[in-house]
Amino acid sequence: MKLFDSIFKTKKSENGFCDFHIHTTFSDGLLSPEQVVTIAKERGLSAVGIVDHDAVGGIEPALRKGKEVGIEVLPAVELSCLVGDSDIHIIGYYIDYKNKKLNNILSDIQNKRLERAKKIVEKLANQGAEVEIERVLELAGNGAVGRPHIAQALLEKGHITCYDEAFWKYIGYHCPAYVPKEKFSPKETIKLIRDFHGIPILAHPMSYNNRAIINFIIDQGVKGLEFWRPDHNDNDRRYLTNLVKTHNLLTTGGTDCHGGRKGKILIGEIKIPYQYVEELKRAR
Ligand code: AMP
Ligand code: ZN
Ligand code: FE
Ligand code: FE
Repeated sequence: MKLFDSIFKTKKSENGFCDFHIHTTFSDGLLSPEQVVTIAKERGLSAVGIVDHDAVGGIEPALRKGKEVGIEVLPAVELSCLVGDSDIHIIGYYIDYKNKKLNNILSDIQNKRLERAKKIVEKLANQGAEVEIERVLELAGNGAVGRPHIAQALLEKGHITCYDEAFWKYIGYHCPAYVPKEKFSPKETIKLIRDFHGIPILAHPMSYNNRAIINFIIDQGVKGLEFWRPDHNDNDRRYLTNLVKTHNLLTTGGTDCHGGRKGKILIGEIKIPYQYVEELKRAR
């Protein structure tokens, strides 16, 4: 689409570029916050978003490293909610990550992730795909445990031959070992983000394969959506451009890099002009 093309053909941006969406070892990423920041710098970005599932522990170390190497770090968290059976992700940028109450809420959600991981492991055993919960937790380290850690354990045990297979065979939606997470509504999740002064942004809108859901989430009060993603095609961009204009939405995006879980390290594969960081900041 025109808006997208015009920006990506301009290789210049006065204040550089940002990748707004990177995971670290504080959730299901494979790189530490320091490594993420270092790689982002090496790849010529001027800003990088530290976005972990239900966790904010990666933000401080990333900020520290950012100061050291000279790159801006955008603090954020990615929360999950349910619409029907669909797992919807909403990111809160500039959330007050130091707030004690927020940290307590996130610890509680992480504990529930642990219970869920145990249930998934039980279901996997019933499917003849045994993995040890201890190993899963070891892979998660200090991070919020999630399905990617379970996929990694399945791979190690030889139950699958590639990472993605875990999701279409065992732990993806509609699969025999799928267990949903805690049932927050989008309204609750958006409220939680706003209560702690975050800007709610709908993550990977096209991944839900459901336009009604996108519209519903916009009605619930997100301030923007991930427009700049490497996985969008022309149709997606055309559709999202209309939405952004109609609802006057902020646009963010990025690679959603999990540190090479799906092959290579994606950080900076999409470079979003810094002006979109400025727009996000103005919305604070
Ligand atoms: P969880 O928060 O535990 O439900 O795990 C969600 C994460 O699993 C996402 O952020 C992705 O990294 C990964 N994931 C979910 N579905 C798939 C899929 N179909 N293929 C590959 N990775 C997936
Ligand atoms: Zn993830
Ligand atoms: Fe996500
Ligand atoms: Fe993500």
